[in-house]
Amino acid sequence: MHEMSITQSVVEICTQNAGGRRVTAVILEIGDLSGVVPDAIEFCFEACTRDTLLDGARLLIERVQALGRCRDCKAEFALSAYYDPCPACGGFGVDVFSGEELRVKELEVE
Ligand SMILES: [Zn+2]
Repeated sequence: MHEMSITQSVVEICTQNAGGRRVTAVILEIGDLSGVVPDAIEFCFEACTRDTLLDGARLLIERVQALGRCRDCKAEFALSAYYDPCPACGGFGVDVFSGEELRVKELEVE
């Protein structure tokens, strides 16, 4: 399961950064285009944190909206999917600059 291995690597990152202290909360940023399903991460989190420094920690997920910038007219706009055309000029040359992230934003430790 995709989300299980993602959750395991999140737990590893948190463990490395916790400095041996117990983690009480994790704030995770998930971009709308990351392909990661937040509900599935929440589902896996409890199983992945058992008997680790994160045991019992709260998981807070922040969604990051997908944003693109048109290469032709430089307009910036919200994307609902990859390959959305530019709403200003209809161009398809769009650089995605937000919405692909999957990262641990913050840790709360004891
Ligand atoms: Zn454009």
